[in-house]
Amino acid sequence: MALTIFTSDRFADHLTPPGHPERVERAEVMQAVASEFRKRRGAVLEPRPATVDELARVHDRDYLTLLAETAGRAVRLDPDTYTSPETYEVARLAAGAAVTAVDYVLDHDAGTRALAMVRPPGHHAERNRAMGFCLFNNIAVAAAHARARGVQRVAVVDYDVHHGNGTQWSFYEDPAVLFVSSHQYPFYPGTGAAGDIGKGAGAGFTVNLPMEAGATDADFERIYTTAAVPILEQFRPQLLLVSAGFDAHADDPLGGMRVTTGQFGRLNALIAAAADDCCDGRVVAVTEGGYDLQAVAASLQATIDAFEGRTTLTNTPAPQGTTARADACLSAVRPHLAKYWQL
Ligand SMILES: [Zn+2]
Repeated sequence: MALTIFTSDRFADHLTPPGHPERVERAEVMQAVASEFRKRRGAVLEPRPATVDELARVHDRDYLTLLAETAGRAVRLDPDTYTSPETYEVARLAAGAAVTAVDYVLDHDAGTRALAMVRPPGHHAERNRAMGFCLFNNIAVAAAHARARGVQRVAVVDYDVHHGNGTQWSFYEDPAVLFVSSHQYPFYPGTGAAGDIGKGAGAGFTVNLPMEAGATDADFERIYTTAAVPILEQFRPQLLLVSAGFDAHADDPLGGMRVTTGQFGRLNALIAAAADDCCDGRVVAVTEGGYDLQAVAASLQATIDAFEGRTTLTNTPAPQGTTARADACLSAVRPHLAKYWQL
């Protein structure tokens, strides 16, 4: 398996106020992980910024103008989301890294995988507003880019502990982009109920897997093997994208889940195996949240190990100890999705 990493030292140039969890040290973690990857002869490539036209596939032009006007300035965009003088350019580079990674995977052989390690994150950003530390919706821009290149079916799997509201709304009526999200619920940002399944032609193509705080490795394994992966296999994407947030980690200061580093390896191995079955292994992961620096570093390495085939479902132990949370999630989801998918 060939994995290529897309990242840049520039991601340390987006500054947030003191005490903000989405802090510059997260970029230093990404740099350290990239440095280890290089030492093992892995390819780390510099991305290009997204163009305004690429961003405009999922954002309003007026919103893009508003953000462009924050260049050189420190602005509070929402209660959690701030710019510093370099943020506009850095955020364009984050979205551009997702686009660059998609181009790379589509232009290379079967089995090509990519990991874009970026900040600021993206999945809360909506068509016309920044929120939850996010300015541009990097993963949605990537999915829209793949569609514009002629990819007929794109799947986005989002295992960040928060619901990816921005990604969901970007494709809520679009049957060409399947959005599958596991998240803590109820929790920020409040969206992601089991009954939110898409609308119009997009009905059934949004799959929310909400779980109560405290879900374990085994709970995540169960909802992925019972719902997320079977739906991916039925949808048969031609490209699989991952919103790779690590704030469901047990050590995360914001999330309330109990996922271990090893389980992030298994979740990515499950996703990679689904990509092998559906789309010649073509998978692009783009980072989202994750606020314990050691947990993020270890989980990024676990993702790399899974995408390079060192961590597999057979050489790691299946987690034990499901709680009621996984079954409660599946019971809530099944009645809404039974019409669209077998699960
Ligand atoms: Zn998050």
